[in-house]
Amino acid sequence: MLDSVQQLIAGQLSSWELAANNYKALSQVKIKAVEVDGHTYKVQFNPARIASSAANVDAKSIQERQCFLCAANRPSVQKGIFFNGRYEILVNPYPIFSRHLTIPAVEHTPQLIFSRFGDMLDLAQQLNDFTLFYNGPKCGASAPDHFHFQAGNKGFLPIENDRNLPNVVRIESDNKQEIIDRFHQIYNTLELHPGDAEPMMNLLTWYESGHWVVCIFPRKKHRPACYFAEGDKNILISPASVDMGGVFITPLEKDFQKITAGDIASILEEI
Ligand SMILES: [Zn+2]
Repeated sequence: MLDSVQQLIAGQLSSWELAANNYKALSQVKIKAVEVDGHTYKVQFNPARIASSAANVDAKSIQERQCFLCAANRPSVQKGIFFNGRYEILVNPYPIFSRHLTIPAVEHTPQLIFSRFGDMLDLAQQLNDFTLFYNGPKCGASAPDHFHFQAGNKGFLPIENDRNLPNVVRIESDNKQEIIDRFHQIYNTLELHPGDAEPMMNLLTWYESGHWVVCIFPRKKHRPACYFAEGDKNILISPASVDMGGVFITPLEKDFQKITAGDIASILEEI
């Protein structure tokens, strides 16, 4: 599986101009390190992510656009690999990671994790060069109407090496069923907001040395106040799994320049 994915990435970067340009641009993006309460976070200035960070994900906007994860609406140059007959592994043309995948369900079905969490573990085991992630429908997913995971190459997110990064519930085991049961237990303790279909959360999962590591980030807010602030106080950050895992994405250079450890700490506190 991993070999086919590497071939898919190489093939897409040679045949798909948009993806090739965006991966090339990614190699030039600025990154800075910021110490927040003794933990090293990174900030990545990534202009190609503006569409995702500023996405309107309210029901009306979603209903009025064509779903970019449905096979029928994807550009013909975008190729995929089927996984378990239920998912398709695609190259994400707007990368944060130097290898960045989007893994939509084959059918157009809402972003809901409960019954699909085991699939995330299977993907992490098969794609063991990658960290898998899941953004809840109000926690960073820009297609809340079409179920999808994402994956990025290991070695980029600080949380992989910082066991004490805050705001996370961590599960580790070599027993898949045990992890699923534990996840479901935790899921059931999380607050479900009125009108929501699942508790707000981001998830990161990877497989190493024969066991899984799962990081659950319970969320209470979709976007921080600074996202909506006017003037100097505005910082366009729409936090999702990658940010929770230690890499804050700023699509605008002004925000990359000005964001401080205090801003990051207060955004984390708030969301
Ligand atoms: Zn769709």
